[in-house]
Amino acid sequence: PFEVLIVGGGPAGAAASIYTARKGFRTGIAAERFGGQVLDTMGIENFISIPYTEGPKLAAQLEQHVAEYDIDVMNLQLAEKLIPASQVGGLHEVVLANGASLKARALILTTGARWRNLGVPGEFEYRTRGVAYCPHCDGPLFKGKRVAVIGGGNSGVEAAIDLANIVGHVTLVEFDPQLRADQVLQDKLRSMANVDIIVSAQTTEVLGDGEQVTGLAYKDRSDGTEHTIDLQGVFVQIGLVPNTEWLQDSGIELTTRGEIVIDDRAATSIPGVFAAGDVTTVPYKQIIIAMGEGAKASLSAFDYLIRTQPA
Ligand code: FAD
Repeated sequence: PFEVLIVGGGPAGAAASIYTARKGFRTGIAAERFGGQVLDTMGIENFISIPYTEGPKLAAQLEQHVAEYDIDVMNLQLAEKLIPASQVGGLHEVVLANGASLKARALILTTGARWRNLGVPGEFEYRTRGVAYCPHCDGPLFKGKRVAVIGGGNSGVEAAIDLANIVGHVTLVEFDPQLRADQVLQDKLRSMANVDIIVSAQTTEVLGDGEQVTGLAYKDRSDGTEHTIDLQGVFVQIGLVPNTEWLQDSGIELTTRGEIVIDDRAATSIPGVFAAGDVTTVPYKQIIIAMGEGAKASLSAFDYLIRTQPA
């Protein structure tokens, strides 16, 4: 068995594994796809101390850094089930899709999250060419341009407020007849001069010229009419889904949205099981935050292992 097993190989998992290995613990990482969401990202301009990099390059550097240590990297391994230790100090078991089982006294869960997609034509084709999911990341790329934000919940309205300060014009598009965001956010948004709000609108297509996004098509759900908006960017803000389906039966505490509940030391509700990054309740989902959380979870796992008798 491992002393520490990390499930997930994104920024949080990579950071966790390096911190654990540097403590001299026998460390493994099982990841469905090493690199995580970073592999789907083009320009990264907010990874502090590196003014510009690209996702695939950063993912390769994560892999290289991990390879500096004696870490057992099991890539392309999907975890399907967690069976927690029956007593404190015992071995937790992670069952993989290939039928194998991995065991460790401490686990660090870093299975990340995925943006909910609209599922309309053009969304996938124009990803990173006008279709974006992260205003903190990509907002500045649209300086002075016209964009839409799809989704009128808190994240959509926050994104629209954020973007209205950076871009030329923002159209907020909501499916329901009213916005669902907190009133204070709605009031703030309505006070901004360069914002339009469209409700009861079903986005039907992201339009483009083969190179870049050029517009958005939607159907007015109140009268069935079809409309298009000319713009250069579409921010999809209809939810971030944590990858915790595999934990449903484990007994670990999840929020109603499926995030793993952690305390300020990255401990979950199960002794010896820690979690870090986008899969958790940590506020703000960013690379730099996921890495910091991964490091924190490792130091907590270290603390746990040196204070707990093996059972
Ligand atoms: P993830 O990166 O999601 O990694 C999760 C890991 O777990 C992956 O290896 C995955 O394969 C694995 N996994 C999932 N389920 C299982 C399972 N059941 N079994 C085994 N392994 C599993 N952040 C920034 O700071 N700056 C940016 O510019 C930026 N741009 C972004 C652009 C896009 C298009 C996207 C999608 C995100 C962007 N982000 C950006 C957000 C950033 O990528 C995430 O916050 C960060 O990757 C989270 O790291 P993580 O390790 O917690 O999770």
